[in-house]
Amino acid sequence: MNREQWTAVDHYFTDKLLEADSVLDTVLQENAAAGLPAIDVAPNQGKFLHLLARIQGARSILEIGTLGGYSTIWLARALPADGRLITLEYDPKHAEVAQSNITRAGLDQIVEVKVGLALDSLIQLHKENQGPFDFIFIDADKKGNPDYFQWALKLSRKGTVIITDNVVRSGQVVDETSTDPNIVGVRQFTEMVAKEQRVSGTVVQTVGSKGYDGFAIMLVTGEN
Ligand code: SAM
Repeated sequence: MNREQWTAVDHYFTDKLLEADSVLDTVLQENAAAGLPAIDVAPNQGKFLHLLARIQGARSILEIGTLGGYSTIWLARALPADGRLITLEYDPKHAEVAQSNITRAGLDQIVEVKVGLALDSLIQLHKENQGPFDFIFIDADKKGNPDYFQWALKLSRKGTVIITDNVVRSGQVVDETSTDPNIVGVRQFTEMVAKEQRVSGTVVQTVGSKGYDGFAIMLVTGEN
C-alpha cells in the first residue's frame, strides 16, 4: 500500500459519494492561486467533519486554524440558517483569502473569521462569554494543541464534540524521544485527553490523498 493507492481510493469514494461542488473546487483554486499551502482537509474528510457536525446537531462551531476556509465551509454548511461559526487564523493573507471564499460561498452571515494568534482569540472569546460551542475543530499549529484543548474545554458544555486533526503525523506520534515541537505538542495533548475526566476520546488513523495521519474525536461528558 502506498500514497498513490490511497489517493486512488480517495478519488473513487469522492467521485461516488460527494456531489460535484463548484464552490469548493473554486476555494481550492483560489487558495492555490494565492500561494496558500495545500494543507486543507481532503474532500472526503471535509464531508466527514460536516456529517459529524450534523449528527451532533451543532448550532455553534469554533474552528482553530482557517487557512483558506475549506474546512470552514464544509462545517458551516452543517449549521442551520441561524447558526454561527467562529474561525481563528493568525496569518492575515490566509484570513483574507478565507473571507473571500466564505463570502463567495454565501456563508458570511454565519461565519466570522477572527485574525490573530489563536491563543489570544480563545482567551478573548472566553472573556466575552462567547461559549459554549457545540462543536470545536482544532487544526492550527500542532505545538499549540495542549493549549487549544484546554481552551476548547473552557468553551465547551456537556455534549460538545471536539475534533483534533493531524494527531498521527505519519506514525511519528509514537516516538517518545522526538524533539519536534509538533510531535511533542500532539503527545502532550494526548496525555491531557487521557487524564481529563470530563472527556471521552479516541483516535482514528487515516490514510488518503493527504498521507497517513489521524483525527482525535472527543465528547465532553462532564460539566466545566
Ligand atoms: N482547517 C483548514 C482546512 O482544513 O481547510 C486547514 C488549517 S491549516 C492546517 C492551519 C492554519 O492554522 C494555517 O492557516 C495557519 O496559518 C494557522 N495557524 C498556525 N498557527 C496559528 C496560531 N498560533 N494561531 C492561529 N492560526 C494559526
